[in-house]
Amino acid sequence: MINISRQLLLISLLILVNISWAQKKTYLDGKYKKETSENVYTTTNQHIVVPIAAVADPNVEVKNIILMIGDGMGISHVFAAMSANKDQLYLQYAKYIGFQKTKSKNSYKTDSAAAGTALACGKKTNNGALGVDENDKPLTSILTIASENNKATGLVGACKITHATPAAFVAHVHSRGQYEDIAEFFITNSLDLFIGGGLDDFNKREDNQSLIPDLEDVGFKVVYSIEEMDNIHTGKVAGLYTGGHIDKYPERGEFLPRSTNKALEILSQDTDGFFLMVEASQIDWGGHDNSVGYVVEEMLDFDRAIGEALKFAEKDGHTLVIITSDHETGGMSVHEANLEKGEVEGRFTTGSHSSLMVPVFAYGPGAEAFIGIYENTEVFEKMLAAYKFEK
Ligand code: MG
Ligand code: ZN
Repeated sequence: MINISRQLLLISLLILVNISWAQKKTYLDGKYKKETSENVYTTTNQHIVVPIAAVADPNVEVKNIILMIGDGMGISHVFAAMSANKDQLYLQYAKYIGFQKTKSKNSYKTDSAAAGTALACGKKTNNGALGVDENDKPLTSILTIASENNKATGLVGACKITHATPAAFVAHVHSRGQYEDIAEFFITNSLDLFIGGGLDDFNKREDNQSLIPDLEDVGFKVVYSIEEMDNIHTGKVAGLYTGGHIDKYPERGEFLPRSTNKALEILSQDTDGFFLMVEASQIDWGGHDNSVGYVVEEMLDFDRAIGEALKFAEKDGHTLVIITSDHETGGMSVHEANLEKGEVEGRFTTGSHSSLMVPVFAYGPGAEAFIGIYENTEVFEKMLAAYKFEK
């Protein structure tokens, strides 16, 4: 009798545990986003990766630096693209790998303005601030220092060129939203080339002034399309292809690899060397949208631009290429993939940025210095050291 009631008790307990377990699962399912086909994406834009040889002598003088920033690019964004591209990327030929921590002056979770300032100027600042410290004191960017050392300089971005990441290298404003103020900083002798969108910030302004004549006064030839740019082979040049942002991939075509190539063609004519920053701006937007497809397409496009930079550096031998990110977006993970089909299943944990460390990949002379775990500001310090510039 006692045994039977004990057994009954045990069985009812087990049933209770099962019910609460099931309820808990239902609760979790309800909390998590419904699985949709958005989590699974198959690309048709795979590319063949041509092997890149290591530079013959890693100890030669660094004449040129190409800094490539995948906005919002974390490990999962890289791995999603690698899986979608038959398990290979150009990125894997940048074999000196580290991680940088991205926290800003006033937030564990940075934005692109503070992170861009840290990479460009080597100082932590408050979220939203561009090229200034937390007291609005202007900071000097690696681009300006490179220019002062007679190097040619350039910026390429798949967005408004006045947007936070490229702007961090030339502008000094309290807030990243001051687009028209930011545009005025592009009228400078420190910059030799820029390509992106954002024409409206230069010529459809609240003050009714056009900055195009001012750009021309400091020597820029201003061009308005990628086709027009094909005819430019030398000199100071500004490419402003759209009023607002550049389209996403594939609508924008091969804008990023082509503009990277064009920048290298022009900047490499300076015998003193150059500094070029190339931004894949919209990996971040794919992360904010929690769209595996948007992330994968932007990452693959970025990798093709990385391929162009690495091919240049392989041939040149005096070029350091650094590929990194400003922060991770989406708290992304990768779950399944079909390497042959280019199919990837990914998930996101936030529609915002996360606080994760982000990867740094380096290639060429000086690349070894980028191994390790360090703050984002040290990317600036390491670039200065690679160029052997005085502080
Ligand atoms: Mg950006
Ligand atoms: Zn973002």
